[in-house]
Amino acid sequence: MNDHTYDAIVVGSGISGGWAAKELCEKGLKTLVLERGRDVVHREDYPTMHTHPWEFPLRGALPLSVRKENPVVSRCYAFRDDADHFFVKDKEHPYVQDQPFDWIRGYQVGGKSLLWARQVQRWSKYDFEGPGRDGFAVDWPIRYDDLAPWYSYVERFVGVSGNKDGLDTLPDGEFLPAWEMNKLERDIQQRIVAAYPDRKFVIGRCAHLTEPAEHHTRLGRGQCMARSLCQRGCPFGAYFSSNAATLPAAALTGNLTMRPHSVVHSLIYDDQKEKVTGVRVIDSETLETTEFFAKVIFVNASALNSNLILLNSISNRFPNGLGNDNGLLGKYVAFHNYRGSISASADRHLDSYYYGRRPTAVMLPNFRNVKKQEMDFLRGYMTFYSASRKGWGGARNEPFGPGFKEANSELGDWSVYMMMQGETIPKEESRVYLDADQTDRWGMPLLRVDVGYDDNDEKSLKDFLEQGVAMLETAGCYGISTRDSKQAPGLDIHEMGGVRMGRDPKTSLLNGWNQMHLCKNVFVTDGACMTSTGTQNPSITYMALTARAVDYAATELKKGEL
Ligand SMILES: Cc1cc2nc3c(=O)[nH]c(=O)nc-3n(C[C@H](O)[C@H](O)[C@H](O)COP(=O)(O)OP(=O)(O)OC[C@H]3O[C@@H](n4cnc5c(N)ncnc54)[C@H](O)[C@@H]3O)c2cc1C
Repeated sequence: MNDHTYDAIVVGSGISGGWAAKELCEKGLKTLVLERGRDVVHREDYPTMHTHPWEFPLRGALPLSVRKENPVVSRCYAFRDDADHFFVKDKEHPYVQDQPFDWIRGYQVGGKSLLWARQVQRWSKYDFEGPGRDGFAVDWPIRYDDLAPWYSYVERFVGVSGNKDGLDTLPDGEFLPAWEMNKLERDIQQRIVAAYPDRKFVIGRCAHLTEPAEHHTRLGRGQCMARSLCQRGCPFGAYFSSNAATLPAAALTGNLTMRPHSVVHSLIYDDQKEKVTGVRVIDSETLETTEFFAKVIFVNASALNSNLILLNSISNRFPNGLGNDNGLLGKYVAFHNYRGSISASADRHLDSYYYGRRPTAVMLPNFRNVKKQEMDFLRGYMTFYSASRKGWGGARNEPFGPGFKEANSELGDWSVYMMMQGETIPKEESRVYLDADQTDRWGMPLLRVDVGYDDNDEKSLKDFLEQGVAMLETAGCYGISTRDSKQAPGLDIHEMGGVRMGRDPKTSLLNGWNQMHLCKNVFVTDGACMTSTGTQNPSITYMALTARAVDYAATELKKGEL
């Protein structure tokens, strides 16, 4: 037992687990990180990081057979030959869809931090006030001011590029130099703001080192080269991942034990001690079961997997899942509505080009229902757009010869792409739960997902498409066409909830410190904890909540309260 006892256990080594590990280790706690996937060592295990396009047999596409075998993950834009090894394949990890739900996962050390698109925006005070003001879900137990210093704390370490734009709907942070809008994007922005003064577009904020600080280079991280090959793993450590940043920082303390191939089956609850004493682990290769023990447990297996583990943590005291007296564990799951997009063209600034690539787009923070309810739907959406020159493809219909060469040397007009990221409303009927009969090869019950769109999502989508068209018309674009992808929830990869935070143990699972109301030494700080979804990309909020929760947990541990 002594060999298997630590001060703290972290379940999962992705974005939030990496943060939990770093913070716990830096506070002097001997920390065991249990990760179900294989080890992925920064740089050493990025097999395609230097592969040229022509070295991929299908120039990056995956064979049809692979796509047919993997209909769910194939719908993710990044599931291609250069990064497919970081994605979970459909058949290896089944789940049950009561309604269509594309569950996109990355099971390895680093989790989805290797694959994410790195867009990071703080929530605003309006987002935390949303459920309380509008009467849905349950009131958040914290407000923006509680999290603001922790956003700053994590942004400094992560390295976030952006401008100080002074918008209360998208608070400023600790920024490295920003990427730039190109000429047409600036022009579109100016024309839209002239017509709609409350719609201020900003260049995206993203987790890329545009000017590394000393604390970044000390960890071996360097400047972003704008290769736009990030999903392969970055040899420069220029974008934030657990593998390049938090896990090396945790390892430097000497307090980290990383254990890959360790599927956490459940948490062990001790009825006498009235707390969790450890976790049951199944070796993913040998299927052998082991137990590990600690004073404090951080559950960071990603939103739906954290729900699964807690639902599977059955004891005499908690027959329906850990801390689940109110029966709400697994309920109030939500996501982001990505269905709407708009394409257009523009024929101004044809003498202008841009240099290199850029890992972000232009963002318009939500402008609907911000300060009061104005629309016939709740909440709103963030809008992203980008503009790039068409060209080099203009020669497609030319026969070989001088005309072909000529056409290939000319750039076309601009193409403009706009998309939405809509808030969805967590509802009791949107839930995940355990299948009563089926288990996976590790003996874990299959997760059933019963989450769908509702009328609010349809109205919000319609509004985005109308407003987007109106804005692009105002901006002088032509050939505007709208699209409803009708994609299933889940493909946004921003699933949240099921173990929500709140003030009252009767209506929530976690308190304002991400601590289980009914089991004080368990903390859940990934997307499962989210009371509502906001319209921002969520991961920076998970990071800030995690750092804040560890600080609290470490203080409580010192006081002997856990
Ligand atoms: C293509 C793509 C683009 C994205 N773009 C963005 C973006 O721009 N901005 C943004 O904010 N977010 C983005 N996301 C989402 C982002 O990746 C997630 O929000 C984030 O990774 C969640 O962090 P996490 O720690 O909860 O989960 P993960 O990073 O998924 O880590 C969870 C870890 O837990 C492990 N695990 C699971 N179950 C168990 C178990 N039973 N036992 C042990 N270990 C377990 C997993 O193997 C995994 O390593 C994107 C995701 C993808 C795939």
